[in-house]
Amino acid sequence: MLSKSLLPPEPASPAHICPFDQACSYLEAAAKELNLNQGLLEILSHPRKVVTVSIPVKLDNGEIQVLAGHRVQHSDVLGPYKGGIRYHPAVTLREVSALAMLMTWKCALLGIPYGGAKGGIAIDPKRYSVGELERISRRYISELIKDIGPSVDIPAPDMGTSAREMAWMMDTYSVNVGHAVPGVVTGKPLSIGGSLGREMATGRGVMIIVREALADQGKSLAGVRVAIQGFGNVGSAVAELLSEAGAKIIAVSTGAGGIFSEVGLDIPKLKVYAAKNRKSIMGFPQSISISNADLLTLPCDVLIPAALENQITEENVNQVQAKIVAEAANGPVTLEANLTLEARGVTVLPDILTNAGGVVVSYLEWVQGLSYVFWDEERVNREMEHLMVQAYHRVIQQSKVRQIPFRLAAYTLGVGRVAQALTDRGLYP
Ligand code: GLU
Repeated sequence: MLSKSLLPPEPASPAHICPFDQACSYLEAAAKELNLNQGLLEILSHPRKVVTVSIPVKLDNGEIQVLAGHRVQHSDVLGPYKGGIRYHPAVTLREVSALAMLMTWKCALLGIPYGGAKGGIAIDPKRYSVGELERISRRYISELIKDIGPSVDIPAPDMGTSAREMAWMMDTYSVNVGHAVPGVVTGKPLSIGGSLGREMATGRGVMIIVREALADQGKSLAGVRVAIQGFGNVGSAVAELLSEAGAKIIAVSTGAGGIFSEVGLDIPKLKVYAAKNRKSIMGFPQSISISNADLLTLPCDVLIPAALENQITEENVNQVQAKIVAEAANGPVTLEANLTLEARGVTVLPDILTNAGGVVVSYLEWVQGLSYVFWDEERVNREMEHLMVQAYHRVIQQSKVRQIPFRLAAYTLGVGRVAQALTDRGLYP
């Protein structure tokens, strides 16, 4: 067993699935397939830098609360660290470390010149006022001021954060260094150098990968039955784009539960309904209430987990009826469940490919910012689609040549590219 010495141990509960151990298992499987030497594997198993800062914040009632903010920089072998910042109660240092590692493989697989990182604060943003969130975001970034920068580490939105938080972070960084630095974050508002197409990008990427996978099976999106877990930034965008393309979205859910309609939900109307009801979808006309657990096991063609990790596990995998599982979230299928699905011949479209649209458009935003030339949305979408489709075909090709499942194929491509760069750069000193 490798020692991941920079990280604290995970609580020892038999039911607990440690996301970092899982990420390392996928890395080890790829290393085995690639015949990587043990030293390289050791380097890639360890994040390069793990930072935890304390964030004292004055609440609106005058009390002071101290939060812990993490930033894990897994690898910068191929370029600046890149990855989102998550505000969610389930954030732990090990989870952030796992997600940072996934970012390294994701960027390498897509061929964009970045390493991998992730940040997070264990809070439920819904429990804080806008003013409190602004103070938390600003203090978090100012504590990390020496660790980030447009050629060092470039944060972006993730679960619980959006363009609003990126604007505060860009401003805090810029005020601290004395001039405007738009390139320090991506996923910014358009007014300060954001890119058209960024908000829908992850959802659009998921739609593209599902469309390509269906095409390989001789099918189109028209009429396919889709269930989507999650109706946040990613889930709602993918629902909208798939329904526009003719797919039937039979169910969606949020943390509070899900809704089902045999004839398909009217997604544009559902988006308006959710916006009016403080993001709640429950009670949407002509739908039946279901639980999140029910959604995962519905009879459908495509199941899209677009929420948290570890949703399809040994407990429920045998009830999953979908023929394609598209991982819009990071790590929604556990290691064991993944093996079961693969053995049953279910197509599992892995996270590091399927949800890469977000970071691809982040890269396009960064490129536009550095070159001071901004593109129309059509060009952004076209460039993103090109990179996604290319990566998809590389994965399929690798899977065929090596006779391995898609996930392992994607990992061998991502890990292989980083390992090659590491070998060529050599070890300092
Ligand atoms: N948080 C997104 C992800 O997990 C986007 C990261 C980025 O744009 O840097 O891929």
